[in-house]
Amino acid sequence: MLRGLMGDQPLLVSMCIRHAARNHADTEIVSRTVEGPIHRYTYAEAEQRARRAAKALLRLGVAPGDRVATMAWNTYRHFELYHAISGIGAVCHTINPVLSDEQIVYIFNHAADRLLFLESTFVPLIERLRPQLPADLRIVLLGEAETSLATVGLYEDLVAAETDTFDWPQFDERSASALCYTSGTTGKPKGVLYSHRSTMLHALGASLPGALAMSAADVVCPVVPMFHVCAWATPYTAPMNGTKLVYPGPKLDGASLYELFEAEGVTLGLGVPTVWLNFHNYLRDNNKNVTTLRGVASGGSAIPRSLLQAYEARGVVMLHAWGMTEMSPLGTTAALKAKHLRLDHEEQMRIRLTQGRPVLGVETKIIDGNGKALPHDGKTVGELLVRGPWITSAYYNDEEATRKAVEPDGWFHTGDVASIDPDGYIQLTDRLKDVIKSGGEWISSIDLENAAMAHEGVAEAAVIAISHPKWGERPLLLVTARAGSRPGHDDIIALLAKRFPKWMLPDDVVVLDELPHTGTGKVLKSRLREMFADYKVNV
Ligand code: ADP
Repeated sequence: MLRGLMGDQPLLVSMCIRHAARNHADTEIVSRTVEGPIHRYTYAEAEQRARRAAKALLRLGVAPGDRVATMAWNTYRHFELYHAISGIGAVCHTINPVLSDEQIVYIFNHAADRLLFLESTFVPLIERLRPQLPADLRIVLLGEAETSLATVGLYEDLVAAETDTFDWPQFDERSASALCYTSGTTGKPKGVLYSHRSTMLHALGASLPGALAMSAADVVCPVVPMFHVCAWATPYTAPMNGTKLVYPGPKLDGASLYELFEAEGVTLGLGVPTVWLNFHNYLRDNNKNVTTLRGVASGGSAIPRSLLQAYEARGVVMLHAWGMTEMSPLGTTAALKAKHLRLDHEEQMRIRLTQGRPVLGVETKIIDGNGKALPHDGKTVGELLVRGPWITSAYYNDEEATRKAVEPDGWFHTGDVASIDPDGYIQLTDRLKDVIKSGGEWISSIDLENAAMAHEGVAEAAVIAISHPKWGERPLLLVTARAGSRPGHDDIIALLAKRFPKWMLPDDVVVLDELPHTGTGKVLKSRLREMFADYKVNV
């Protein structure tokens, strides 16, 4: 083999912030702080402070490979920590504060974190859990807070005590850069350990046109939290592309986001469907228009057609994306191809509502119950497997979970059920654990939910399986009502009957005040299954 003769610099996360500080020095990072006021500075200043933070970490004895935890909102301080921690070869372990106490305790102990950077908001939570956390865990406060916790002090003081003469070290690109645990809707959370190489390749992939692309002329607001799957890589992609960053801090309601978007000229937003639903409801109810927003990326759960249409009517392109913690997270986006532009609007909608096609670097396949590969014909449904340089090959210190999820040749079981069409577009029909198995046939809970959400009186919908003596399982539809409306059983079923055969229709419809959600905004079906475990249909 003839070796290429090109530069062999390692792909390190520190490349992003160094690049931004040199070439986009005056581009801003704007944050709504936890304390309230807007904070504004530039990439040059952010890098300077990240260098000081890096030196502070070294002074505190943090060594390469050490796990350093953060429990914080999306603000400039969290951005600095992402770069300072990974930049010295330590592991930026973002912890999701909305998980259950039990899960948080498990995660801290499993990761054996050495240090925690703690937002004042979450001080009471850590005070409560402190006795169960590792004894040698030291805590730095990100903002002033009254607390009984023993701490190393304030982040601002640590940064102020250092000078910014510091060179980002060079090391092996295969070193771990960040750690994120899955939300564990079933079983215990599992650690996904990203490397510098995987993070950089993923950020480059996510920056491609048709993916989560952003330019130096854009203003991006990651509404997705930095405490879950690295806010879809935006701490890396924004500096990589010289994009102005706007951080919403803890205020994610429609009014706060609208004020920030308009004041800062946000052109691109990233978030889960619930965020975009709330944002749209705010605009509609208050007769507001967005003047700078041109696109939003929505992922994490399926988007209802009505939501895509609502944004389309405002001239905002909603891009549907699919991925998971184990995929860094980006797998696919539902961007159209040139040939689709000739199709009618309805056909285009159908494609844009799929989970999309893979970004270069993500291989996909579907298999049946015996592991046999199924055709990519857009009809055949099977379990979806993925593989690639930014997809996990093992869970962190969890051999049992790894054995269940990863094949010896690297294919990862997503637990999602899908079809793949000849153009590579994936249509998710369910989670393997949520699909309703009725008399040997599978009924997609997602399809029924999307159809139910098209009813004007329905705000949110979830379909779960209830056990049935004859059919094994049958679907039960749970909905919440839009303000001021009372959706009725019969008209929802009549609406669904237009699209589904009779045997697929829910056996009953129950209207609830609210649906339980996971920390990341997904409907918590395990809780619903518990709530309706003994449900008997009244017929
Ligand atoms: P967890 O921590 O529970 O793994 P993730 O945020 O990683 O949470 O969620 C991954 C799962 O979320 C996927 O496997 C899939 O089931 C679901 N998901 C993500 N994006 C979409 C989407 N666009 N449409 C439907 N489901 C999605």
